[in-house]
Amino acid sequence: MLDWTVVVTNYKRIFVSTRPTISIVVPVYNEEPVLPELYRRVSQVMAQTGETWELILVNDGSSDRSAEVIAQLHAQDKHIKGVSFSRNFGFQIAATAGLDHAQGDAIILTDADLQDPPEVYPEMIAKWREGYDVVYGVRKSRVGETWFKLITAKLFYRLIHHITSIDIPLDTGDFRLMDRRVVEAIRHMPERNRFLRGLVPWVGYKQTGIEYERQARFAGESKYGSVKQMLPFALDAITSFSYIPLQLATYLGFAIAGVSGLAILTVVGVRLFGPPGELLGQATTLVAVLFLGGVQLISLGIIGEYLGRIYDEVKGRPLYLVDKTWGVGGEDEG
Ligand code: UDP
Ligand code: MG
Repeated sequence: MLDWTVVVTNYKRIFVSTRPTISIVVPVYNEEPVLPELYRRVSQVMAQTGETWELILVNDGSSDRSAEVIAQLHAQDKHIKGVSFSRNFGFQIAATAGLDHAQGDAIILTDADLQDPPEVYPEMIAKWREGYDVVYGVRKSRVGETWFKLITAKLFYRLIHHITSIDIPLDTGDFRLMDRRVVEAIRHMPERNRFLRGLVPWVGYKQTGIEYERQARFAGESKYGSVKQMLPFALDAITSFSYIPLQLATYLGFAIAGVSGLAILTVVGVRLFGPPGELLGQATTLVAVLFLGGVQLISLGIIGEYLGRIYDEVKGRPLYLVDKTWGVGGEDEG
């Protein structure tokens, strides 16, 4: 007997399904002047590849007219889909929302500002077709960045490489292609302090890199250019993947306790057997107390960094709240 459910499901899969092969996910925060050019370049490149595709723009609570531009682009071309947050949640979360809504078999994550040129996508897709699950972009050179950003980025990547337990590739950002199974794995990681650059290598499978020249921003300003913006990101990265800061506090404790042991013996020795009047000064006492006070505060601070993050996780709040969507999941609410 003919099983009609199977027939209908297969019919839907073959004729009704509009699932694209490639999803391009782009977090957007105040990128109004960039979006039309992004759309132009991406659609040009994707037309050349002959793949079916969608471009998912995640509006991360922009205060400019980015949301309107997304709505406009979606009205003009159904390849463009959008998700708009209730407020600004930050790049990592916006990227996560993009992965949640992407339907493609492979997903490319990229900045809105065209620093990662769409012209690299065909090469990434070719590698994916060869059988790689992750193809990340390795920055051969970076145009139009401040020397401060270049130096801190270089140091940061080297530091992370040394102190984390997973192999985060050097000089890569978030620009990468991921197979659906990698994206599904990441979607099953509920952590709030998300450092995608670490989560993706953690997943494993077959990963490779391709070199590209990082361009200057097409328009607008970097949102991660100052220490104030970069430091929380760096701390998230370190605490998500390393216990070394905590261990450092322990080692430091042992080292200082060892030295103190010797110092105590010396002081007692001098007091008992040395000439009278020795060790009267307050300087030694002050130095020791202040030094230990400093070390203790630093150790408490390190514990606090981890504790705060544990608290964030335990509260279990949703990662983001959606305000509007355009064309994602098949429906159109915008
Ligand atoms: N971005 C975001 N939320 C934010 C800050 C930035 O979605 O709170 C987006 C931004 O629109 C861009 C990407 O994240 O597409 C990277 O930001 P940016 O280019 O300013 O950083 P940089 O490339 O200079 O490190
Ligand atoms: Mg950028």
